[in-house]
Amino acid sequence: MSLKYNRILLKLSGEALMGEQNYGIDGDVVKFIAQEIKDVYDMGVSIGIVVGGGNIFRGVSESAKDMDRVSADYMGMLATVINSLALQNALENIGVPTRVQTAIEMRQIAEPYIRRRAMRHLEKGRVVIFGAGTGNPYFTTDTTATLRASEINAEVVLKATKVDGVYTADPKKDTNAVKFDTVTYLDVLNRNLKVMDSTAISMCMDNKIPIIVFDLYGKENLKKIIIGEKIGTIVEG
Ligand code: UDP
Repeated sequence: MSLKYNRILLKLSGEALMGEQNYGIDGDVVKFIAQEIKDVYDMGVSIGIVVGGGNIFRGVSESAKDMDRVSADYMGMLATVINSLALQNALENIGVPTRVQTAIEMRQIAEPYIRRRAMRHLEKGRVVIFGAGTGNPYFTTDTTATLRASEINAEVVLKATKVDGVYTADPKKDTNAVKFDTVTYLDVLNRNLKVMDSTAISMCMDNKIPIIVFDLYGKENLKKIIIGEKIGTIVEG
């Protein structure tokens, strides 16, 4: 079977692991996601993953309102490591070899992020999960995803969400909202469309990496994207 993408960077928000809960990790949802990833792994796709932390802690949030931003952001980065370990576990339980690499060293738990090592793991057929964001406060895991995608030469950033693409307005609030099949980076920035933060979009634009926003809970959506079916919205150009 011919593949449209051979190396991908999958961005999972923390909320993607939460399912219908208000907080934390839903084990069944993580199992489902791991299986979706295994399906494309088995097709021979090389996979890097960046996981967010919003299901546990976000630097800019109500619970962090009395904290200094930098400390709160470090807490957010630690949250992404918790999620990375949950995903690693679920993937290894179904036979997918993985490595977690963290942008902040925590050697008892995971390898430190070393780009050349990450490349080697990918070449050896291991899924690499990048934890702790960029390692810097004031950034997001969306920006981490675009940074790591550029570093590992991924052909595309797959941004998994709960909606099936990018709309002209929030489809939950506006019944006239229309979904885009394709949209340009500049349109996303100028129209302030909710895809990723502007730093992440600019980085993809500068490095010419397309972003596909898609519904992760749609069974086999990930697989369909890999074989070139038009799923979700593609941000490019
Ligand atoms: N974060 C950070 N630097 C990074 C990546 C993440 O400081 O490079 C912190 C930031 O506080 C953020 C939190 O980690 O709010 C969780 O990441 P994010 O909000 O991107 O997670 P998601 O929305 O994808 O679940």
